[in-house]
Amino acid sequence: MIRFAAFLLIFSFLWSPTNPNVDQINLIIDDDLTYLVSFYKHRHQHPEISLQEKETAAELAAELRKVGFEVTENFGGYGIVGILKNGDGPLILYRTDMDALPMYEKTELEYSSIWKTEYNGSEVGTMHSCGHDMHMTTWLGTARTLAEMKDKWKGTLMMIGQPAEEIGAGASMMLNNGLYERFGTPDYGLGLHCNPTIQAGKVGVSEGFTMANTESVDIKIFGVGAHGASPHMSIDPVVIASMMVMELQTIVSRNLKPTESAVVTVGAIKGGTKHNIIPDEVTLQLTVRTYKEEVRKMVHKRIKEIARGTALAAGLPEDKMPEVTIPDDFTPANYNDPGLTKQFEQSAKDAIGVDNVIYAEPQMVGEDFACYGKTKEDVPTVLFWLGTVTNEKIESGNLPGLHSPFYYPTIETTLKTGISVMSNTLIDLFQG
Ligand SMILES: [Zn+2]
Ligand SMILES: [Zn+2]
Repeated sequence: MIRFAAFLLIFSFLWSPTNPNVDQINLIIDDDLTYLVSFYKHRHQHPEISLQEKETAAELAAELRKVGFEVTENFGGYGIVGILKNGDGPLILYRTDMDALPMYEKTELEYSSIWKTEYNGSEVGTMHSCGHDMHMTTWLGTARTLAEMKDKWKGTLMMIGQPAEEIGAGASMMLNNGLYERFGTPDYGLGLHCNPTIQAGKVGVSEGFTMANTESVDIKIFGVGAHGASPHMSIDPVVIASMMVMELQTIVSRNLKPTESAVVTVGAIKGGTKHNIIPDEVTLQLTVRTYKEEVRKMVHKRIKEIARGTALAAGLPEDKMPEVTIPDDFTPANYNDPGLTKQFEQSAKDAIGVDNVIYAEPQMVGEDFACYGKTKEDVPTVLFWLGTVTNEKIESGNLPGLHSPFYYPTIETTLKTGISVMSNTLIDLFQG
């Protein structure tokens, strides 16, 4: 009896149950890898910046059609919507972004970007330094996998190719163009983003707020100009601006509840022309980051009060109060639905192993993927981090961030991980 129990114990250690869907997904990825790697390198060499994604979108649309999707092009700029109907079941959205950044690549890879564009009146290189080329290739690999495994799921897959993520506009462009009205409101939404510090082969995720409301605020400060040697004849806007910058620091340190999060950064001060002239105008450019709506409103209120209060203290009259501009449009905070995040984690663990699904800390960066969940219907969404760097690179400590001219993902492991996790999650969600 003891011998039999020992046998059972050893047997249970040796026999790890395999998931037949995961096995099939991995076989399909292995078959597709050469094709996908060359697609990736081609896209990496030919990046198009925000609102110029014409060729990229046309190529993605053609790729989806090849595997049976019904594709609508030019939907909200160069946006594309690929629909694969496969019987009764949930409608699930999977979004990739498509745009690159106006900058010269310095990676010295043999497949480095060879494209240039006009930007702000001058010629500049274009580069996929945010990894959107990897997002597109993972997305395509997943579309191909799901098309091949149609007998394993039921429902409708909605593949979104989104333009203009880098300027925080593309998701709104597609949603405002009637994305959900025309194609249906999804039951779930999924997306991923390359991560420049997580090892390739792993994914990172956390639930709740993971990325911030991102807003650009302008403050125009007026004053009374004078000769630099006659400050008594002036109301100096440079001094007012300096005081204001310091006062703004107290919003996060004194007005915000210590357990909440926010950032108020003054990124630019512009004013004056010469050493000996006191100007009559200075502008401040701020970025404001928050998670919760009540915190966002509080920060706005304090910025306005500080601007006005500092101007009054300097003796400026009512008609010279600062102008504070807070645009209505902003990138909303990303909220990973807790229930869907748990389901995602389980599917990801089944696909790549328990140790390869890690906790990723929330950040104050912005991502307009959040818009797909922030609709009046409140779609549960998850945006997770896809690890992209080799262990050797992590150990070397040389980890260029996103938007760096030196950033690039390691291709094969990143792709396999992204496609495997995304395909298995989709199939699990379709199967309910
Ligand atoms: Zn970016
Ligand atoms: Zn990005």
